[in-house]
Amino acid sequence: MSGSQGAQRRRGGAQPLFIMSEDAERTSGEDAQSANIEAGKAVAESVRTTLGPRGMDKMLVSDSGDVVITNDGATILEEMDIDHPAAEMLVEVAESQAEDVGDGTTTAVTLAGELLSEFERLLEDDIHPTTVVQGYKAAERAALEAVDEAVVEGEIDDETLTEIVTTSMTGKGTGGVTPETLAGDIVTAVRRVETDAGVDRNAISITTQPGSSAGDTELIEGIVAEESPVREDLAATHEDVQVGVLDADLDQRDLEADAEWQVSSRDQLDQALAAEEQHLQEYAEAVLETDTDVLFVTGDVNDQVAGTLAREGVVVFDSVDSDTAASVAKATGAGQIGDVEDLEDDDLGFAESVRLETFDDDLVFVEGGGDTETVTLFVRGGTGHVTDELERAVRDGVDAATQAADTGEVVPGAGATELAVAAALREEAASVEGREQLAVEAFADALDVIPRTLAQNAGQDPIDALVDLRAANEEGRAGLVQTGEDTDIVDPVAEGVVDPASVKREAISSATEAATMLARIDDVISAE
Ligand code: ADP
Ligand code: MG
Repeated sequence: MSGSQGAQRRRGGAQPLFIMSEDAERTSGEDAQSANIEAGKAVAESVRTTLGPRGMDKMLVSDSGDVVITNDGATILEEMDIDHPAAEMLVEVAESQAEDVGDGTTTAVTLAGELLSEFERLLEDDIHPTTVVQGYKAAERAALEAVDEAVVEGEIDDETLTEIVTTSMTGKGTGGVTPETLAGDIVTAVRRVETDAGVDRNAISITTQPGSSAGDTELIEGIVAEESPVREDLAATHEDVQVGVLDADLDQRDLEADAEWQVSSRDQLDQALAAEEQHLQEYAEAVLETDTDVLFVTGDVNDQVAGTLAREGVVVFDSVDSDTAASVAKATGAGQIGDVEDLEDDDLGFAESVRLETFDDDLVFVEGGGDTETVTLFVRGGTGHVTDELERAVRDGVDAATQAADTGEVVPGAGATELAVAAALREEAASVEGREQLAVEAFADALDVIPRTLAQNAGQDPIDALVDLRAANEEGRAGLVQTGEDTDIVDPVAEGVVDPASVKREAISSATEAATMLARIDDVISAE
């Protein structure tokens, strides 16, 4: 069967029965399967070269000429503007990996691509797709158990967290500083927002600002936001301040919606203006009746109101981004109030300092908030491109450390976990009945793509490296570890190359899900 045949069927000699429009395209059976598999593999191939410490970067240029330089799987696929339905499913693997655990997107997509390649091979050997799907599901269960087995014993102390962070950042462009330099701040940030309930990942913000070296990246005990005050003539630093947050406008009333003034004489006009002025004065007074020192307003603030408040030493920010308003409220303990008349001292939060600084952008630093711990990694870099990629690296570091601290489980990196899981699967396969056994073995072979690719990206012969790695793994834990310029087969844990166990689990699950879902499709019907 081949090609699109329209969607008509004949019943006996009767009239053809049209069930779809004539424009619809239909691909069925093996054609549909192989087209989908090829598309999925192509996506995986496009990110594979970025895997690991020696992975290369990609430069992506958009229609409008914007350039992104990155090593991050999820970012590459997001920028690639893929619109093949099967290929999109692999993009979703990266997205869900990024959303659920943050790191491991390239691993997940590469593995999904290899599961598809193996699938194709099994189909060529006339194994039924349903058998493969069942075998893959069985293999997935066994693989997740094998990840449990690979978990490194011991507490997750700061040293382990630092190793997790550096492993996740290795190979990313970090603007000339070593991952170790940044790891200290990242680990401190994660520890700062850790409670008995786990790490409050949302309490860690990452703000970037180019124009300085990456080494100037620092941890701010609070919030950094791109906002500027209504009046620029105020002091830059305000200490021990009461902070108010208003979700309202402090501006002229909207005449159309509210009162309309029928003005027929000069007197009436004066009256109307006086009433409006009075009204603005009341806004200012409502604020001045409280102890507010700094006010964040999401709406507009009239100049007259800002002027009155400034004379009394109150700093006002207007048109504040609603996310920023929410985080200022959270950090300082302020209530978000919808009407200025309702503002009371009880609603105010506290900050040790509110500081204005001008870089390329005007930034406000709200530090030492009175309520929940909130921290910001203030990421610096020379240029926009460097800063953007550094931000992605820092985000991976924060996510990985969060996963490790939350679950308390890390596994060896550098391909060692994948090798151990593959070995466990080959053993498991022996106990699997019938042709499913071949699918379990194929799953094990697919996992080899990770160590093989690490070798390839390090400029080694992938086949030789895999043979050596397998042999080494029979003796004990071994991966292809990069230290400085050297690539050696050693125990990754001893070298501090470790990944969160949850990142590996998620990669295995999301790759299996996408591969089995794609493989079950034997009919593609697309409306024109
Ligand atoms: P992903 O998007 O999957 O996280 P990365 O490019 O970040 O892709 O590569 C992650 C892989 O690189 C993991 O398997 C990790 O263990 C491995 N890795 C990180 N640092 C090293 C190192 N120094 N030596 C060998 N492998 C490493
Ligand atoms: Mg990574």
